[in-house]
Amino acid sequence: RQDLLRRAWSVIGRVRSRKRGADAGLIRRGVCGTLCLGVVSTRGGGTAAMSSLSASSFPLVNMSFASGMGSVSSAAAASAAAESAATVNVNGLDVSPLDTRAYRSVVLENGLSALLVSDTHGDTAAAALDVAVGHFSDPDAIPGVAHFCEHMLFLGTEKYPDEGSYRQFLAENGGYSNAYTSMENTNYHFHVVAGKFREALDRFSQFFVAPLFTSDATEREMKAVDSEHQKNLQSDAHRLFQLRKSSASPNHPFSKFGTGSFDTLRDIPAVRAALLEFHSKFYFAPAMTLCVVSPDSLDTLQEWVTELFSGVRSKPQVPEEAAVCANGAAAEADAAVDPVSSYRDLVPFESAQLAKTYYIAPVKELRLLELVWVTAALKPLYRVKPANYIAHLLGHEGQGSLLSLLKARGWADGLSAGPGMSTETFGTFDVSVELTAAGVEHRDEIITLIFGYLRLIREQGIQKWVWDECKATAEMSFRFHEREEPIKLASRLSSEASSYPMEHSLAGPFLYYEYSPDTIRSVLDVMVPEHVWICVLSSEVAQQRSLELAEKWYKTPYDVEDISKELQGQWRNAEVAEELRIPSPNAFIPTDFNLLSSENADRGDEKAKH
Ligand SMILES: [Zn+2]
Repeated sequence: RQDLLRRAWSVIGRVRSRKRGADAGLIRRGVCGTLCLGVVSTRGGGTAAMSSLSASSFPLVNMSFASGMGSVSSAAAASAAAESAATVNVNGLDVSPLDTRAYRSVVLENGLSALLVSDTHGDTAAAALDVAVGHFSDPDAIPGVAHFCEHMLFLGTEKYPDEGSYRQFLAENGGYSNAYTSMENTNYHFHVVAGKFREALDRFSQFFVAPLFTSDATEREMKAVDSEHQKNLQSDAHRLFQLRKSSASPNHPFSKFGTGSFDTLRDIPAVRAALLEFHSKFYFAPAMTLCVVSPDSLDTLQEWVTELFSGVRSKPQVPEEAAVCANGAAAEADAAVDPVSSYRDLVPFESAQLAKTYYIAPVKELRLLELVWVTAALKPLYRVKPANYIAHLLGHEGQGSLLSLLKARGWADGLSAGPGMSTETFGTFDVSVELTAAGVEHRDEIITLIFGYLRLIREQGIQKWVWDECKATAEMSFRFHEREEPIKLASRLSSEASSYPMEHSLAGPFLYYEYSPDTIRSVLDVMVPEHVWICVLSSEVAQQRSLELAEKWYKTPYDVEDISKELQGQWRNAEVAEELRIPSPNAFIPTDFNLLSSENADRGDEKAKH
């Protein structure tokens, strides 16, 4: 279940597709959703591959089930084991057995990774390029440079200097383009009618090969960025997100303001210099992951991608002065290759910044209680998915659940729990409760119930059957994953292929590979009162308290107080309310997707009844 906030955040940060969809064809660069949660880059951060089947056994993607119930295709018939496996390995990539697209991953000589997807059923083509740098790498003095770079990149190239021609070409050919800047990634994407893909891809590639960054566009785009920020000022999700950021350790880049505004970008000459430096330092082929989706064949796509993207420079351009200064040079070169190296060892929240409750007034009619814990980076733990295990229990909605009890007491309308932000170096576990007016008054008791439920999870011990249920549900959702529009697929895969080992770029975000109670416990261990960050969003509370502080960038009025040692103690020792319990095993999660042969079905095999 997604709460209002996470829904909003996913729109801002990760998905943005709904808004994009509504804007399709308008190609308004002014609305490129920036900011953001969630998007991660863990280039090579994952662990070794685990593929259940060797590539050579299954050279085809489309070992399909399409020939009708009961009649199994010959390839599938060849191996019953393959049918029930969660994935088949195609050209080194784990894909769903029902996925009829063809995939291939390639790395160009300059180091650019590309994931090629041939989808013969489609009539649109799409491409996305993800660069492993985001606003965490903004220069301290100029917030918003990464986002500004994203805006500026599309304004003309040496080959196609007219700054409007890319937009126009796409608009004339049923396409549109967009981009977003997140904490550690910048993602550019477009779609176009399939017959024009080669030319669109040529225009697109030039932005990464030889962009112009003309000075006369700088001021205009600065204003576009500022108007984007002005729009965000009235968004509760943005206000809350920035409050989280501004309350973090000032030494950690999480505390930055990523959008940029007139205030941060008005010194045009300085901003332009910073922009060019940012681009030369962070935009180079090994930091980029491309994904193309098209009805064209894999061979054709590989030929185009190689031809068009081999011109992207293979190394960052280290500033000359850094190359001269011996000590400085090493540091500069390091930072250029891996943006994360400058903050890998920093913590986003020190103890002094935790165990606090923030109170803010919403813009819209909204009552929300947010509990946030900072965890280890979750992406490298994708094989175990420890936060999903905890989310499965805290967020379940049946009898004995936290939500059913909160509803019975009239305190909440909804609850969501699960992994929140996910970065290279840390993640968060978020619990959001959609409060009723009565719930606002009883918020401390609600928090006591949450800690009580966490205690229940600890006391029950980590249960393998719970993890197995999560695993089975995830396999089903991967197997039957809804077919996405090419542009969404390209954007998602370009981002995920840069976060997971290539073979797991499709399956990794979904599937569970390894049961590790210790890893699950390690996330559970940080979910204690002394490490919690709480926010209450409610106009009632805003009226009761004088919100005299103002957040730096959004000027959101807020108040903050330390959670007293006494209250922390109460939460730590919270009893488990007698209504609460761990859900019983769910007997209705299918795990066997074997098609029965007609012979078996005739025999009335037990399986056929399910
Ligand atoms: Zn923007």
